[in-house]
Amino acid sequence: MRAMILDAPGSPLRLAELPTPSPGPEQVLVRVRACAVCRTDLHVVDGELPDPKLPLVLGHQVVGEVVGNGPRASRFQPGDRIGAAWLGWADGECEFCREGHENLCPRARFTGYTLDGGYAEFTVANERFCYPLPDGYVDVEEAPLLCAGLIGYRCLRLAGPAKRLGLYGFGASAHIIAQVARHRGQRVFAFVRSGDAESERFARAMGAEWAGDSLRAGPEPLDAAIIFAPVGELVPAALRAVRPGGVVVCGGIHMSDIPSFPYSLLWEERVLRSVANLTRADGDEFLALAPRVPVRTEVETHPLEDAGLALERLRRGLIKGSAVLVPG
Ligand SMILES: [Zn+2]
Ligand SMILES: [Zn+2]
Repeated sequence: MRAMILDAPGSPLRLAELPTPSPGPEQVLVRVRACAVCRTDLHVVDGELPDPKLPLVLGHQVVGEVVGNGPRASRFQPGDRIGAAWLGWADGECEFCREGHENLCPRARFTGYTLDGGYAEFTVANERFCYPLPDGYVDVEEAPLLCAGLIGYRCLRLAGPAKRLGLYGFGASAHIIAQVARHRGQRVFAFVRSGDAESERFARAMGAEWAGDSLRAGPEPLDAAIIFAPVGELVPAALRAVRPGGVVVCGGIHMSDIPSFPYSLLWEERVLRSVANLTRADGDEFLALAPRVPVRTEVETHPLEDAGLALERLRRGLIKGSAVLVPG
């Protein structure tokens, strides 16, 4: 099969011919139909996340078709359309897993990071960590739901029932979560790079009532803010923008250092927290909700072998919505 391989952080992705993987116990063999590109993929390529599997097939927003079952795998039948996401496996027995926090499992394995992912024609995935996919979506438009949507949804949930919600960085996650927030009756304010008129327009088209410079105050105090951009500077900016008792959620897996800030920004019971990974419960809940909103995704598609180009466009902030790779 054809796959895009990362040999080592800092090196360009390379198109390779690999043996089609054979599904192990509890695994399905999946023919990849679409795999969306995530900011996390860039962090892996740039060596900002420790100890990736190497060589590695990136990609953790996989829409595919089951074409085979390994031993003890029976949840899906050949032909079923399924999704594979970031959480590829958790042990189910540690204190975090037993408390419903499998996203924090110290033995968890992650698709496209510590397990091979979907920048390939085929992949294997543990059936218990795959999702049956809702109807009504075409493959390429569904792929971004699997991380941009799913992790974004966990952020939205943990931001609480904010009437006025700020979204910092208006990329793949924000464009999905703005629609969900509007559906829940929340008002959305989009904070983007200074002078980025294109992102401001895009945010308004996705339901934001206001869009403007991320380092300045918005038109009203926020009840909560979610930071999707990996920019530490946004943490004090968002704390400044939320009202007393407000919540700031950092949604990314990596962020540049947070500059020091006066305690007065956190004072008055403002809460600053991160969101790490996702649980299968988040996935099931979001994938049931998405078609009811209905969430529509904006995508640009690239052939598999242009994965490096898609990542570069993401790095430069050129992608409206999400980039999606299509093998063959
Ligand atoms: Zn565990
Ligand atoms: Zn992701």
